[in-house]
Amino acid sequence: MSTNRPEVRIAERAGFCYGVRLAIDKARQASEAGEEVTTLGQLVHNPGIKADLESRGIQTAELADQVEGGTLVVRAHGVPRDEMETLKSKGELQLIDATCTWVLQSQKAARELDEAGYTVCIIGHENHPEVRGVRSYAGEKHVVVDDMDRSTWERVPRTKKLGVLSQSTILPSKLEEFAAFCLKRCHDLRVVNTVCPVTLTRQDDSVKLAAEVDAMIV
Ligand code: SF4
Repeated sequence: MSTNRPEVRIAERAGFCYGVRLAIDKARQASEAGEEVTTLGQLVHNPGIKADLESRGIQTAELADQVEGGTLVVRAHGVPRDEMETLKSKGELQLIDATCTWVLQSQKAARELDEAGYTVCIIGHENHPEVRGVRSYAGEKHVVVDDMDRSTWERVPRTKKLGVLSQSTILPSKLEEFAAFCLKRCHDLRVVNTVCPVTLTRQDDSVKLAAEVDAMIV
């Protein structure tokens, strides 16, 4: 029987990004302080973290209406604008807003572009919680297109002013491609680079490692 074992290597920068790490830490700290903690959706889709949070008595609710009181943690993806306003108005809830700073910047950019008269075009995954949150700041005219389905790009109107944003985790090359597409449909184009730098470094490390190994698990 062969005793050769495969060499296992881990990308240089792997693991949770700081946005997710911060949300987990905030939930744990509140729990350790004796608060009854619920997270709005899973903080991260990781069985180990899920089990750890559950062992501390930290619960997960899919909808804010399911939470009667105690401390509610908004995860790094953020929530839509009206949902955040509802949460803030619930006097019986102690709110911990763990929306990642990069996501907050995307929400702000969407609002500012809309206020400046740009039709906001967001490239990402329509049903992703982060996109649902960002688009809620983007005004009535905004469109969301899928980075993996070019046919959805036809949703971009031919108009004077277009403002482009992306979900934080898409490939930068997709944002560039989409910006070039939008340039042909307007006179005045503004592109805000909302690809998360943490995503960029992880993608670079993965590409580097992929060139050196036989197989990768992502
Ligand atoms: S924007 Fe970046 S740092 Fe923030 S939660 Fe998303 S991947 Fe993590």
